[in-house]
Amino acid sequence: MNMDDIPQAEAGGLLTIDLAALQANYQEIARRVAPALCAAVVKGDAYGTGLVPTSKALWQAGARTFFVALLSEARSLRATLPEAEIFVLNGLFPDTVSTFQEQRLLPVLGSLEEIATWRAFCTRTGQALPAALHVDTGMNRLGVSPTEAINLAEGRDEIGFPLALLMSHLACADEPDHPLSARQLEDFRAIAALFPDVRASLANSAGAMSDPAFHFDLVRPGIAVYGGRARRDIAPLRPIVRLALRVIQIRHVHEGQTIGYGAAHTALRPSRIAILSAGYADGIPRLAGASDLRPGAEAIIAGRRCPLVGRISMDLLAVDVTDVPDALVSAGDWAVLLGEGLTLGDLARHSHTIDYEILTSLGKRYCRRWTY
Ligand SMILES: *Cc1c(COP(=O)(O)O)cnc(C)c1O
Repeated sequence: MNMDDIPQAEAGGLLTIDLAALQANYQEIARRVAPALCAAVVKGDAYGTGLVPTSKALWQAGARTFFVALLSEARSLRATLPEAEIFVLNGLFPDTVSTFQEQRLLPVLGSLEEIATWRAFCTRTGQALPAALHVDTGMNRLGVSPTEAINLAEGRDEIGFPLALLMSHLACADEPDHPLSARQLEDFRAIAALFPDVRASLANSAGAMSDPAFHFDLVRPGIAVYGGRARRDIAPLRPIVRLALRVIQIRHVHEGQTIGYGAAHTALRPSRIAILSAGYADGIPRLAGASDLRPGAEAIIAGRRCPLVGRISMDLLAVDVTDVPDALVSAGDWAVLLGEGLTLGDLARHSHTIDYEILTSLGKRYCRRWTY
């Protein structure tokens, strides 16, 4: 199944999303957190894997509740999944309120101002439309304060619309036993007790992989569903992304010659260098490149791991294939950057970043394929 506009023959990279692995990951998390329900977070174009095909696959796997960040994402998702429950994490922007109603979306209200705006809209239209309430328990990003939440609980009648969900977000759940997680859990539990009839949700992927006390009624995993690492001490689930890059040519480089911008890499022996057709414009971080001072990421060519050499350019990168037999690599071949044992974590580590950023940066110039 190829839903993309860029034909493989013309693409510098082939990005394959394994929807069967995605579904297996979702179902594995859902199984672990039962009887809590498992939502799916599909913001950021489903973490770079394609909102439409990925959300459809998650729905088939049993997901009924979805979280996006933005209204634009919610609109695409609504067109894809007419029956899904869709929460919009970034809340209400001015002049967007009626779209929530038209598209049957639930804003996650994260301030008293947003609550007042939603209430005013409900009053004006004469419809008590449901919304989620976000309580901040230590992230200091979005959400009303615990004190504001307590005041809201005491004046439930004045809220003016039904609460579909009470939620908070963990700041440090990826680090096992971080003291802030225990404090957030305690505070959220106390607030949730004031809203006994409202579904409660605290856990992201890392929280879903943690003690069941974190699960409440609904968990909100993102990264773990996409095969990324959620907690430092727990292995990721199945990888779902494979990225192969086109070999444009093989060059012979003499000992002592340098490769790429800044002459950052010097060949220490006569070398064969494969030039691949992707670069930082495709979301491959510049920090994944190599220099004489530090190694970079690796690519797999003809089944062998080969080091990246020199800086990553906008549209090109170089790989040392000297140890690959001549007959096994030539122009037109594909080199694997993610997959065949090369993980998101490997590329993220070399790039001083996290699996999330690698995934959500995956380029728009690839030929993208979704397979089962
Ligand atoms: C992104 C996000 C999630 C999902 O987090 P992961 O770490 O990817 O599982 C859950 N809840 C909120 C509020 C988020 O912003």
